[in-house]
Amino acid sequence: MASLRLEQLSKRYNDALAVAGVDLDVAEGELVALLGPSGCGKTTTLRMVAGFIKPTAGRVIIGAEDVTARPPHARDTGMVFQSYALFPHMTVAENVSFGLEMRKIARPERETRIAEALRMVRLDHLAQRLPRELSGGQQQRVALARALVINPAVFLLDEPLSNLDAKLRGEVRLEIRNLQQRLGLTTLIVTHDQEEALTMADRLVVMDRGRVRQIGTAEDLYERPADAFVAGFVGRCNLIDGAVEAEGRFRSGTGIVIPCATDTAKTASGTVALRPERISLTPGAPETGTRGGEAGVAARVAAVTYLGAQTEYHLDLGGLSLLAVQSTPSGDDPLKALRPGAPVTLNWDRAAARILPPTPDADHRDADQHGVGNHLHQGA
Ligand code: ATP
Repeated sequence: MASLRLEQLSKRYNDALAVAGVDLDVAEGELVALLGPSGCGKTTTLRMVAGFIKPTAGRVIIGAEDVTARPPHARDTGMVFQSYALFPHMTVAENVSFGLEMRKIARPERETRIAEALRMVRLDHLAQRLPRELSGGQQQRVALARALVINPAVFLLDEPLSNLDAKLRGEVRLEIRNLQQRLGLTTLIVTHDQEEALTMADRLVVMDRGRVRQIGTAEDLYERPADAFVAGFVGRCNLIDGAVEAEGRFRSGTGIVIPCATDTAKTASGTVALRPERISLTPGAPETGTRGGEAGVAARVAAVTYLGAQTEYHLDLGGLSLLAVQSTPSGDDPLKALRPGAPVTLNWDRAAARILPPTPDADHRDADQHGVGNHLHQGA
């Protein structure tokens, strides 16, 4: 195993930059996920590491060696594709053997290594089957064995689970993670599924239009997003545009005072990020009637969605919409009686409402199209 380093890695297609100066260090034995909306450059980045795409600029370094100019077979990377890419006319064992034959490994050693790789993915009993005689999950495990058998310095996975059904995806995800940790594989995985990335990776790279927005652990990205794009892409988030009015007070574009964590009284426009589960609800209007005081923020329930363990409350704050998520109330909890139109009081820790630095390209913060963001635009 070796470390992997990308330095200012870039790819230009005609006049469009698909990947724009990506810097990344993956430590030995670390699993890093590239995450981001469709077309953000994840696959292009991975393929440049594998050697299938020639970078326009920048370097790929594996261990101490600059491999940028080397063809794929001379890079010591093992890649697993979304489509498995198994040879249909070859048995499982022959598929796994292929990379070893290409590397001129003698038959006795080949046989030992094939058996070992198939045992690792629990397919030793199916070595003589053809790919079409296997389930999707089994085929994907053959593809994993084929990549692992060559003992690659860097393991590359391109959306390896996207052809599997939800249950199998969960199982294979755990298998890959166990194997990766047991063997200490330096791994780069591409996925557009944030749950997959959050559960598998040591660190994640959030990309947007060819650029890295943030690199960090799942907790870094969720608790301390670098900007509104990351906040909206990783988990759900209320994003409220407006300006700091005084220390601890942010006024939304619609005029609602949002208690927040500021260490400055300086007026500055920006976006507040507030996770839905950090908002707590009390039935009825705030006691003092003041908005934004310690008594809480006044809102009305717009809709209630029951989701089993949790319930979502869509709230209206006079033209500003917010989403709150609570554990589903039980017993005689007064929240149980909340219906659309009911007045409620909202409270949160000031520290939960974080002011984010302005996003470089404000036009592109709406992650809703990917089904995970919750950028709540102000009413006109
Ligand atoms: P997805 O999740 O949809 O697979 P991605 O993040 O992997 O997306 P890439 O496949 O890396 O994105 O593509 C990045 C950008 O480069 C896209 O805008 C894409 O249209 C463009 N692109 C990719 N391959 C080519 C090519 N061969 N010629 C021109 N443009 C390309």
